[in-house]
Amino acid sequence: MLTNFSYIRPKSLREAVKALASDGAGLHAGGTDLLGCLRDHVFDIKKMVSISGLKELDGIRETADGGIRIGALTTVSKVAENPFLKKHYAALAQAAEAVASPQLRNQGTIGGNLCQKPRCWYYRGEFHCLRKGGEKCFAVAGENQYHCILGGGPCFIVHPSDTAPALVAHDASVRIVGPKGTRTIAVEKFHVLPGVDARRETMLGPGEIVTEIVLPPSQGVRSTYRKVRDRSAWDFALAGVALAIQLNGDVVSKARVVLSGAAPIPWRSKDAEQVIIGQKVDGTVASKAAEAALRNARPLSQNGYKVPMFRALIEEELEAIIRKA
Ligand SMILES: Cc1cc2nc3c(=O)[nH]c(=O)nc-3n(C[C@H](O)[C@H](O)[C@H](O)COP(=O)(O)OP(=O)(O)OC[C@H]3O[C@@H](n4cnc5c(N)ncnc54)[C@H](O)[C@@H]3O)c2cc1C
Repeated sequence: MLTNFSYIRPKSLREAVKALASDGAGLHAGGTDLLGCLRDHVFDIKKMVSISGLKELDGIRETADGGIRIGALTTVSKVAENPFLKKHYAALAQAAEAVASPQLRNQGTIGGNLCQKPRCWYYRGEFHCLRKGGEKCFAVAGENQYHCILGGGPCFIVHPSDTAPALVAHDASVRIVGPKGTRTIAVEKFHVLPGVDARRETMLGPGEIVTEIVLPPSQGVRSTYRKVRDRSAWDFALAGVALAIQLNGDVVSKARVVLSGAAPIPWRSKDAEQVIIGQKVDGTVASKAAEAALRNARPLSQNGYKVPMFRALIEEELEAIIRKA
C-alpha cells in the first residue's frame, strides 16, 4: 500500500520549484518509475508535485544554430518517432525506441528517463543497502549478475536509462531550474558515481527540475544505439553501446563511445575513442577499441559474462557504423 501523501499540480515552473522546496516533496512527471518506487517503499514522500500539466516543458524544437531542444516532459515515444531526430540524432531515437514497452514510452518522459532510480533488486527490495543509508552493498556477496563491471564501488548498481548514453554520445546538456536560478550541465557530468556519493544518482540539488535537453548541431555525425537484453520484449540493458562518429573521408575525426548496462553512470570510454580517432576503422581497429573499453572491467562473481558481451557488441557496432558510409 502507498503511504499517504498530498498531491499538487502547479500551474507554472516557478510554482513547481517553490512547492518542491518543502521537506519530503517529490517530483512527478510521467510517474512510470516514481509510482513503482513509492508502491515498493523504496522511499516515501509527503507531497507529490506533479509537473505533468506544464505544457511549456513539452515538445521538440530546432534551435537557431541547427541543434535541438527537447522539453523534459516530452514523452519517450515522441523522441523515438521524431523524423528529425531519427535522421540527425539516430542514436537518441534508437535508444528511445529501445526503452521499455509502447505503453511506458507513451507515458514516460525523457526527463524522467534521465532521472529514474536504479533497478538493483536489493535497492528496490527490502534491503537497507548503502544507497538507502545502510552499511553495505548486498550485491557484492549476493546475486550480482545484472550489476556493474566498470566504475563500481562501494555500490554496484548499473545506470538504467537507455537515452542517457545516447545523449552523452551526442554531447547533449540538460537545463536545470531551481531555487537558486538556472544552470546548464553536460549530460556526461549529470550522473554521480557511487564513489563520489552512493546516495544520489544525479547532480540535482533540492528543488531542482530538469526543464529541457539541448543537443548541439549534429554536423553530419553518424550515430547508433544498440542494446542487448535477456528477451526482446521490454527489459533493461544487459549491455548496450551508443556510438557517435564523424568521418573525414575514411578516417574517424571525432568519436564518442558510451556504454549502458556497464556502470553506475552512462560510461564514456575515452580509451576506446582514442583507439579509433585518426584511424580507418577495420576489424582489427574495432577489436582493439573494444579491448580498450573493457581493459579496466572488474566483474563481480556472477557478471563476468558481460565482458565478452560488451567486446563483441562494441566491435560489431563499430564495424557496422563504418559500413553504413
Ligand atoms: C516495467 C518497466 C520497464 C522499463 N524499462 C526501461 C528500459 O528498458 N529503459 C529505460 O531507459 N527505462 C525503462 N523504464 C524506466 C522508466 O519508466 C522510463 O525511463 C520513463 O522514461 C521514466 O519517465 P517518467 O516521466 O515516467 O518518470 P517519473 O516516474 O515521473 O520520474 C522518475 C524519477 O525522475 C524524477 N524526475 C522526473 N522528471 C524529472 C525532471 N524533469 N526533473 C527532475 N527530476 C525528474 C522523479 O522525481 C522520479 O524520481 C522502465 C520502467 C518500467 C516500470
